[in-house]
Amino acid sequence: MHAFLYDVARLSVWLVLLVAVFVPLERFFALRRAPVLRAQWRTDLCWYFINSLLPAMAYAIPVALLARALHGLDPLGWYSTVAAWPVGLKLLAALVVNDLGVYWMHRWMHSNSFLWRFHAVHHSPEQLDWLANTRAHPFDIVLERLAGLLPVYLLGLGSPANGQFDPVVALVTIFGTFWSFLIHANLRLRLGPLEWLISTPAFHHWHHTNDAHRDRNFAAIFPWIDRLFGTHHLPGHFPPVYGIDGHVGATLSEQLIDPLLGPVPPRARAAD
Ligand SMILES: [Zn+2]
Ligand SMILES: [Zn+2]
Repeated sequence: MHAFLYDVARLSVWLVLLVAVFVPLERFFALRRAPVLRAQWRTDLCWYFINSLLPAMAYAIPVALLARALHGLDPLGWYSTVAAWPVGLKLLAALVVNDLGVYWMHRWMHSNSFLWRFHAVHHSPEQLDWLANTRAHPFDIVLERLAGLLPVYLLGLGSPANGQFDPVVALVTIFGTFWSFLIHANLRLRLGPLEWLISTPAFHHWHHTNDAHRDRNFAAIFPWIDRLFGTHHLPGHFPPVYGIDGHVGATLSEQLIDPLLGPVPPRARAAD
């Protein structure tokens, strides 16, 4: 119980920091005018806490099993070699490997009707802002987190025995989480040539489009991964329309239960 209360307090502090960063930014550099307390903000705030607590408990189990399986192994001396790398190099490699895993899991979620049931929740907002980042089914979060972190562990870039307390894994998680809020934000921020290197709101807003350019921009941090695999789309303007064709309930319970029991929301066009 103490650990749970500590987690809620920690998340509340992070929330205050996120509000302090994104509310002024979205006020002064808004892409579209929107009130701070827009529709469904309470639902998304609940998702913020649920998705920060539940998935972490769920993926602790496979990570612990992986730690047991890898214990004492050092194939061809690879883990010893990587362990001697500078932290900066391990962190850079982990960010790339993590994003490659996220890319393929995310792309699969768009093409597989069972996974789309869950991922459709994240695509249901018809306006994007920083808080819309939190709207996702916990099963979706668990799968994406595992797809990103398991290759990081398997390559020895982070230690599963340390869980979230491994410095490289912690930094990948913190940076990835902050960046995820940023790329959903209602910001007309563009980075010019740097948009080849790192994702921006425009890049991810196009992922949420509901026009002929759906099923593009699956990477979370590195747009060049989409260029590499032929799914990149980033024109000079922002998308005109967001969301999905099908209906996703507006309440927390509908968004949690409907993917399990309800009809499959019409899927976005399959990612070839
Ligand atoms: Zn998606
Ligand atoms: Zn998104």
